[in-house]
Amino acid sequence: MNTSPDRPLSECRVVLVGTGGVGAPCAIALAEAGIGELLLVDEDRVEIENLHRQLLFGEEDVGASKPEAARRSLERRRADLRVQTFRGRALPSTVRALIRGAHAVVDATDNFPSRFLLADACHLERVAVVHAAAIRWTGTALCAAPEGASCYRCLFEDLPGAAPDCATAGIVGPVCGVVGGIAAEMALLAAQGNDEFHGRIATYDGRRDEHRLIAVPARRSCPLCGNEPTIVDLVETRYIGAACAA
Ligand SMILES: [Zn+2]
Repeated sequence: MNTSPDRPLSECRVVLVGTGGVGAPCAIALAEAGIGELLLVDEDRVEIENLHRQLLFGEEDVGASKPEAARRSLERRRADLRVQTFRGRALPSTVRALIRGAHAVVDATDNFPSRFLLADACHLERVAVVHAAAIRWTGTALCAAPEGASCYRCLFEDLPGAAPDCATAGIVGPVCGVVGGIAAEMALLAAQGNDEFHGRIATYDGRRDEHRLIAVPARRSCPLCGNEPTIVDLVETRYIGAACAA
């Protein structure tokens, strides 16, 4: 285990996909911790009904592109932070170029196709990725690394046929804040070269204020990181599936 970080935070480049309920507090934590460079990826615009949990934005941002509004907000906090933006969804045709060269990726997306796409892309590009999600009172953050640890597909083999929609299941704002902070902590350590959280999932139960950290065993039959992987590229048809999970 390599627990001694060797890359200075100021040299760390992190890619954050999704700047909503979980992504916004994560971005703030990453920026305030002192990372050097952050790429923000989001296709949406700021909506007034989400402001209570999307801490980067205010009423003046309603209608603006989320990555652009997030960049302005972060630069007000840290003028020396290098922020890049990509307005659009991470797609099989674009995602590898977006994450290439990153020291860590945070998946704060709100749908399973994007989560599986990021899991596959990060493994193929050899980048550590933290998959963070919140639904109702529960939050989770799984840190996957390309070498020697389990991946998202070790836990969830493939896209579910149906999943609860976050609009109907609901999201508790403070749970997003907690999970965004945990995801930032995992990404910071991974970006510095520390493997302490690799292959581990943190869970948070907001009703009991209960944290757990669980090791996810790697599966030899995993189609992504197993002994005989079948996912060796990003085929568009693999990422058509169910809706929201965050
Ligand atoms: Zn795996």
